[in-house]
Amino acid sequence: MILNAAIFLITLFLMEGVGFLAHKYVMHGWGWFLHRSHHEEHLGAFETNDVYLLALGMVAVGLIVLGNSGFDPLQWVGAGVAAFGLIYVLVHDGIVHRHWPVRPQPRNRYLKRLYHAHLMHHAVKGRRNSVSFGFLYAPSVPALKKQLRAMREAERAASRADLCTPSITSDLQNG
Ligand SMILES: [Zn+2]
Ligand SMILES: [Zn+2]
Repeated sequence: MILNAAIFLITLFLMEGVGFLAHKYVMHGWGWFLHRSHHEEHLGAFETNDVYLLALGMVAVGLIVLGNSGFDPLQWVGAGVAAFGLIYVLVHDGIVHRHWPVRPQPRNRYLKRLYHAHLMHHAVKGRRNSVSFGFLYAPSVPALKKQLRAMREAERAASRADLCTPSITSDLQNG
């Protein structure tokens, strides 16, 4: 029993890491075409981004089914994945984005921190230069603002470098 509870909690904890990496490198990478709907204004109750949640649900069900058919600890891994998905739906869809008819408010300090950190994620409209990809762990807003500023600075420096390059090469050719 204790072992099962430990497997469940460790999975939930690790899922935050998996979620962070998937959000940063897949959803804001080659999978942007599905996630994009979540970063734009939308009208319907569903968005193509929900495909990711569906995939997560399928992984959880698959693990629980495998666990039930003999690979015992896997059902607790599956339960951990499912719990992560459930918390995500409740907090992300319910409290942060208010996709539901009832609109719960973030009351305690932890939920408020998640709420503000995720709004910072949405402060950047496009695919690049976003911050706060995690979910259950959220950095403070000042820390995220600092990251955003640093990224904008780097972007500006890069575009300045791009603008300079042709003149350097033409100078070299002329000189
Ligand atoms: Zn995103
Ligand atoms: Zn969001």
